[in-house]
Amino acid sequence: MKMPNTYSYTHDTPSTPPRKKDHKRVYNPKWEQEPDFKGWLQPLSGNNTKACCKICNGAVLRAHKSDLHQHYNSAKHKKNSQAMRIQEPVISHGKLEMC
Ligand SMILES: [Zn+2]
Repeated sequence: MKMPNTYSYTHDTPSTPPRKKDHKRVYNPKWEQEPDFKGWLQPLSGNNTKACCKICNGAVLRAHKSDLHQHYNSAKHKKNSQAMRIQEPVISHGKLEMC
């Protein structure tokens, strides 16, 4: 029985690019368009690994989607978003300096 020569096969793969996976998660402005995040998510200026919530007094969040979802589902956030609705805010543009 002949052994297949898998040796060189598994080993040298010189054409493989260096595995530089960018693991750093950064804020994605596209998230703002998602229904769950619409209306409250905004970037934190000066730090693209963070985000903040407009309606929770500029609560700072990590720019991880799971964190944002968690925030969205938090009681505090829900309460705040409801309060927002009741107050029926006249959203003034240019009020982005909260965080
Ligand atoms: Zn919030």
